[in-house]
Amino acid sequence: MNLKFQKKSYCFYLSSKVENSKETYLKKSGWIIKLSNYDKKIGFGEVAPLLKKDLKKCEEQLNMIPEYIELSNLSEQINIFHPCIQSAINSALAEINGTIIFKENYFFDEIDQTAMLLNPNNVISDLNEIKKKQSNFGKSITIKWKVALKSNNEEEATLEEILSQIDNNTKLRIDANGSWGREIANRWADILKDNKNIDWFEQPLSVDDIDGLKELTKKIPIALDESLLKFPTLIDEWKGWQIRRPSQEKNPDKLLRDLENKKALISISTSFETGIGRRWLYHLSTLQLQGPTPKVPGLAMNKFPKSFLFLNEAQKIWDQL
Ligand SMILES: [Mg+2]
Repeated sequence: MNLKFQKKSYCFYLSSKVENSKETYLKKSGWIIKLSNYDKKIGFGEVAPLLKKDLKKCEEQLNMIPEYIELSNLSEQINIFHPCIQSAINSALAEINGTIIFKENYFFDEIDQTAMLLNPNNVISDLNEIKKKQSNFGKSITIKWKVALKSNNEEEATLEEILSQIDNNTKLRIDANGSWGREIANRWADILKDNKNIDWFEQPLSVDDIDGLKELTKKIPIALDESLLKFPTLIDEWKGWQIRRPSQEKNPDKLLRDLENKKALISISTSFETGIGRRWLYHLSTLQLQGPTPKVPGLAMNKFPKSFLFLNEAQKIWDQL
């Protein structure tokens, strides 16, 4: 199959800063790619590296792909490329092949349909804002708190305050982005092991400390995130929760099939994609919610600006970019 390959770069400011123990995000940059074949079938993909340091590498590698290319050559060439480029191209191919068929609309705008990210510098007032919205709404919500940004004493005090303020209708996800050591992780696991509000600890220990992470699962549900990106074979080995990011995986088709086959303990998460990458997030999240362990995805919906970049129609985003 002969393909035409096109790309356009994008950059947008998040509506407010997103901070974790490893990075601070004010804006997001990446590329939209478009593949067309001679049957005039079109597929879009998005190169959305999560780490800013990977942008340069992605740019250089994208520039190596010619405008007209044979499918076999393209597949061979991208094998050594950054996972985000592989993800974008495989996503576009899946759309051309009909492996994925997007719906016209997905529904993830309300506060009970996605995990709400707390501002780490304003945890309690943010929580109160969310609770106010929740009480108008009367539904259960999920909040996500990024920790290991302040001293542990301070964060344990905040934890106590959070726990005193949430009811049975609120789920809590605690994400250390790999920055806790075993001692602190165990302290928090001991405090929270019988707590019904906790969904999971997300990547509490460093990406490499798989033994420590396994040990912690005896006390509390542990969701791997960054470890899965560094060691993709863990996707088939890790028995607990997995935070899955379609735009960061070499072939999101595998994730699609896993969810279609009702694989459990998968949670879908954004890497701050535009509307192009978001189609995958929505589609996979919809499947996840129909699976054996439904959990709202982490889509950080309150972090995106109003822009054509987040339209539902891929072609319109492409045309306006
Ligand atoms: Mg995470």
